Amino acid sequence: MTQEQPAFQYVTYGWDDAVAATLDPVDRLVYRSNILGADQRITNTGGGNTSSKIVMPDPLTGEDVDVLWVKGSGGDLRTSKRENFSSLYMDKLRGLQQHYHHAPERGPKTAIEDAIVGLYPHATFNLNPRPSSIDTPLHGFVPFRHVDHMHPNAVIAIAAAKNSEQLTREIYGDEVIWTPWQRPGFDLGLILEQICREHPKAKGVILGGHGLINWADDDKACYELTLDLIERAARSIAAHDKGDRSALSERCKKIRPSCASSTAWTRRAWLNWGPPAPTTSCAPRSSHCMSRGTRKPRMWTRSNSS
Ligand SMILES: [Zn+2]
Repeated sequence: MTQEQPAFQYVTYGWDDAVAATLDPVDRLVYRSNILGADQRITNTGGGNTSSKIVMPDPLTGEDVDVLWVKGSGGDLRTSKRENFSSLYMDKLRGLQQHYHHAPERGPKTAIEDAIVGLYPHATFNLNPRPSSIDTPLHGFVPFRHVDHMHPNAVIAIAAAKNSEQLTREIYGDEVIWTPWQRPGFDLGLILEQICREHPKAKGVILGGHGLINWADDDKACYELTLDLIERAARSIAAHDKGDRSALSERCKKIRPSCASSTAWTRRAWLNWGPPAPTTSCAPRSSHCMSRGTRKPRMWTRSNSS
């Protein structure tokens, strides 16, 4: 690795221009995913996903088409290979929006949210057999070429805090927008699309009680942005760390003795800013476990998502 690297204290920088230069666009996505997943502080085992929108020739017509390559269901970013990514025609994926809007009832937990998952195979590019994750619209509807969705310990600590929205603004200003927790799916993809429309300069979104999603039109820039946003969350937590001087310290130790030896970021955020907001999934309780790879919230395992 010979290029100049940004300085990070809380995440490991892994991008090597010399390696990336040898790869085609899909393999660059695989490479980016592998180096993101290699650092457990960036995302947990089996968690998070990545995507690139790539122009490539249609196997039937030979014409150039826009294809969304996105980490599919199953597997881990650190070890993912090309076959772990699903590929969908962007125009067909976007076309599903019309289908969705015609449904009498829309939103999380509605019948159309589940039904639309069954339509993803109809948007498949080049007969790729990898099933699409329910996170697919989160990537497809963000109007940038490259998208990273991670579950970083430091960001989850912010995302799951009681005053998560305020903390997001304090740490990121207008660069990152906060949105409340919602089960990943088609509707959340539409929400992200709307956020991008209303905040054209935003670089990412804190998904309340869940994690981070951010984007760029260049893959290396997307990777570096992901690291930068995590680094800023970690630095903010460290700067506010009161440690054992916190009034909540003893309470935390009594209630959650395992905190001290496991997810330090969640514990530190908890001590600094108070207990987390109640939520139905991906809260610190879950993230605490997820970061150690010991348990997943039921929704993830049931929905084949990450
Ligand atoms: Zn997620």
